[in-house]
Amino acid sequence: ENTHDKNFVKNNQIGVTGRKIIYDEDGKPCRSCNTLLDFQMVTGKISSTATPGHTSKSLAQSNQTLLFNKQDPPDVEELGKSTWTFLHSVAAKYPQTPNKEQQGDMKNFINIFSKIYPCTWCADDFKDYLEQNAPKVGSRDELGKWFCEAHNEVNVKLGKEKFDCNLWKKRWKDGWE
Ligand code: FAD
Repeated sequence: ENTHDKNFVKNNQIGVTGRKIIYDEDGKPCRSCNTLLDFQMVTGKISSTATPGHTSKSLAQSNQTLLFNKQDPPDVEELGKSTWTFLHSVAAKYPQTPNKEQQGDMKNFINIFSKIYPCTWCADDFKDYLEQNAPKVGSRDELGKWFCEAHNEVNVKLGKEKFDCNLWKKRWKDGWE
């Protein structure tokens, strides 16, 4: 299952952010698996000794001016943020008392999602998480909390703070007032 980890990391090459560089099947660096800075480093757009903060700002500025606001495909962070927004919003719209078909559809969706998420190594970890923590699809609140806990697992892995899952509905459905 995880064989691509071995295939798609070359010589344990490390990016400017300290992460391993991940490659696609075609041998090109995977944009949705690497941060923008690491992707730019490995594709030769910035030097590996550049300071991350400074470089990302000046690159962003020169992209704006020189490339006429052309937007690049998402890196691992932009993809992640957009995807979590989508997943938590899906939970917010899930029925409070779903019927059998809706529960089955949601399980299938999560299962298929785990196979097609474009950050391949993120998807592998998510698949492992699914094996240990079957999706809870019995109600909106169950599903919302399940996604929240899955998101927290990634937060912890990345050294970020955990989100209080009792507040998921305020963040993703009702708002704070
Ligand atoms: P995000 O973590 O994207 O969160 C967006 C917003 O959601 C936050 O601002 C906050 O308001 C809210 N939020 C935060 N935590 C929770 C929670 N637990 N429940 C509800 N709402 C919350 N990146 C990696 O580098 N490595 C990985 O292995 C990896 N795996 C991922 C697996 C999946 C399935 C997904 C969807 C993304 C994964 N990512 C991974 C991306 C990573 O989770 C972040 O999306 C990315 O680092 C950007 O983080 P961010 O700080 O912008 O906020």
